[in-house]
Amino acid sequence: MEFFYPSVCLGCGKDTESLPLCTQCLARIRVVDRDFCELCGRPIRGPVHTSFCTACLKRPLSLARIRAWAMYRYPVDELIQAFKYNRRQGLSAFFSVRLEAVVQSDKFLRSADMIVPIPLHPLKRWWRSYNQSALLAESLAKESGLGVAYLLRRNRMTRTQTRLSPKARLKNVQGAFSLRNKVESSIIAGKKLILIDDVITTGSTLDAAAKVLLDAGASQIYGLVVGGAWRER
Ligand SMILES: [Zn+2]
Ligand SMILES: [Zn+2]
Repeated sequence: MEFFYPSVCLGCGKDTESLPLCTQCLARIRVVDRDFCELCGRPIRGPVHTSFCTACLKRPLSLARIRAWAMYRYPVDELIQAFKYNRRQGLSAFFSVRLEAVVQSDKFLRSADMIVPIPLHPLKRWWRSYNQSALLAESLAKESGLGVAYLLRRNRMTRTQTRLSPKARLKNVQGAFSLRNKVESSIIAGKKLILIDDVITTGSTLDAAAKVLLDAGASQIYGLVVGGAWRER
């Protein structure tokens, strides 16, 4: 890796011995390991006698539980952008060690049977030449010993969710996923599956994918992401 890339921090650009981030930028990562919503994983501020965030109390997702390793803000946003768009596939190793620690710390995720990546639309996959969620899944599989199951396919190009309102996001992903053609429902029936993706915003993408797997007979769906792009409140 160092042959191709200068050893500079992916956050601040300073020379560093410790890739992908210098020690100062590493220290700025905000890991989400306590006081989070028991359903969607977002941090809850204030008195922590509540277990669920207001979004989940209003409209719970179909996933039993979601965990994010860290907040999607500096420097994790820089890492994920590099991972997705600048061909820094090697970052999957950095992420998967952290994701495996999340899985091991969580009694729900720890009980899962398989890892399922969120698919990209084939055109986008071709354009980018790799699916970042699949890389994360494969890398986490090596860490955890769990298998990766490619169960889902993306039916149509969905617009990038970033600039859409929560309502528009929901509509945008409705019907976006279905089971791949040759997937036998016996693989899924009664299974606990970890859906893996790079970033969560409203959770509507994970939710749409989870519904397909639940309809196919999965017993529980968990979500696991690198970054949570929730609004700070
Ligand atoms: Zn730095
Ligand atoms: Zn929540």
